[in-house]
Amino acid sequence: MATTAKRFGWLPVCSYGKVRSFIAFEKYLHFFILLLKLAFDHRIGILVNLGLFITFCHANAVIKREVAKQGKRRLKHLLLVCINLGTSILVIYTILADYTLAYALIFIPPYSSPIFFWEVLWIVSVTDFVLRLITILIKLFVVALPSRVVACPKKGKYYLFIERSSQLYRTIIPMQHWLYFFSESYSGPSKVFGVILSAAYLIFKVKSIFKKAKLWKKTLIKVIQSKTYGVTPSTNQIKEAGDSCPICQDDYKSPSMLQCKHIFCEECVALWFDRERTCPICRAQIADDPTWRDGSTTLLHQIF
Ligand SMILES: [Zn+2]
Ligand SMILES: [Zn+2]
Repeated sequence: MATTAKRFGWLPVCSYGKVRSFIAFEKYLHFFILLLKLAFDHRIGILVNLGLFITFCHANAVIKREVAKQGKRRLKHLLLVCINLGTSILVIYTILADYTLAYALIFIPPYSSPIFFWEVLWIVSVTDFVLRLITILIKLFVVALPSRVVACPKKGKYYLFIERSSQLYRTIIPMQHWLYFFSESYSGPSKVFGVILSAAYLIFKVKSIFKKAKLWKKTLIKVIQSKTYGVTPSTNQIKEAGDSCPICQDDYKSPSMLQCKHIFCEECVALWFDRERTCPICRAQIADDPTWRDGSTTLLHQIF
C-alpha cells in the first residue's frame, strides 16, 4: 500500500482500488497490444470466419425449426436459407479468397510450397465451415422432399446419416494440411522432429477416425435395415390398450407395440424417437441417442 501510494502519490487513498485495477491492466497491456496486432493483421480471416459462423448458426436454427414442423415445413424458408448458403460459399471462393481454396474440399492441396501456421489455420477453418454449410444444404434437400417420396418418420435417420458422414469426412479433411505443415516446417537434422510430430498427430487422428467410422457404419446399417421400433400388436392387445394413440390422441394408424408393451401409431412413435430415447408412457429405454435426428448440425469446429 505504501509503495503504491508513493508511486501514485497524486491519488487520494480512496482511489486504491482504481490503482490496483490500473496495475492489473498495465500487467496485461503487452499481451493486449500483441493481441490487437494479431487481430488487425488477420482481420479479413477473422471477419470471414465470423460471417461463416453467423451464417451457419442461422441456417442450423432454421433447419431445426422446419424439421420440427414435419409435413408443414415452409419451402419458402428452406429456399431462402439455400440461397443464403449458396451465396456465402460463392462469395468466399470468388471475392474473399482465391478459388483454389475450394480444392481443399476434395483433398487437393491449394499450395505447392511450405506454408505457415496461419495459412494452415485459414485453410482448415474455412474448409470446415464450408463443409458444414454443404451438410446443411444436403439436409435442406431432404427436408424439402415431399412425404410421399420419403415419409417424415424416416427422415430422422437420413439426417443422422448425413451428419455422421459429414463428421467422418471433416475429421479426415484437415489431416493432409497439418501433416504437410509438420513435415515441411523443418529441414536437415531437425526434420526428425517433424516426423515425430507427424507420427503423434497420426496416432491421435487414427483413433478419432476409427471412432467416427464405427458410428457411421452403425448408422448406415440402420438406414439399410429400416427397422421399426416395435411389433404389430394383436386386436386384443389394441383393445386392452384403449382405442386411441396416447401421442396423437386419435385412432391408431399402423399400430406398433414397443417392448414395454405400450402401443402407439408407428409414425407417432418414430417421430417421438427422433427426439427422445424412452417410451412416452413408462420411460423404458427403447431407442439409441436421438442426437442429430432433428436435422441439426454440430457446432464443433474441426480445425485439427
Ligand atoms: Zn398416433
Ligand atoms: Zn412403455
